[in-house]
Amino acid sequence: MKTAADPAHRPRPFQDHPAGYRWSEVDLLEYKAEGSAPFKDVTRQVLFDDPAAGYQWRYFEVAAGGHTTLERHEHTHAVMILRGTGTALVGTNVTAFGPYDLYRVPPMTWHQFSAAPDEAMGFLCLVPAERDRPQLPTEDDLAELRRNREIAAIIRV
Ligand code: MN
Repeated sequence: MKTAADPAHRPRPFQDHPAGYRWSEVDLLEYKAEGSAPFKDVTRQVLFDDPAAGYQWRYFEVAAGGHTTLERHEHTHAVMILRGTGTALVGTNVTAFGPYDLYRVPPMTWHQFSAAPDEAMGFLCLVPAERDRPQLPTEDDLAELRRNREIAAIIRV
């Protein structure tokens, strides 16, 4: 006897749109509420959101020349670059990245991911479902960060 298919068990096929990576039945969302924090040309898709499991798995896409918010928070991020290249700040480490590079963002560590000027970039990011709100750098924090020339050259606020 064939049992009824459970819609939750359907796959969500990948869709390589010219405008960016998508998955069927996954909504394309704003990265953050407009004006709530500085960022440029970032979209968000929640791939998995299971309260019982305690985590959320998201995909962010950053247009060429765009960047995520420079921020820090108590919760950790597990990040895997999925497409494109760019530059990351994690703590005091400034690194160039490409597809499949892995980043771990520990608690209360400044971080920002920027796309190369000529190519969109996308990354997967795993977070706890219940998490604290990101903190933005104060002018004092920025002055401290900019004491490091390498960091000063790449941060966008
Ligand atoms: Mn973050």
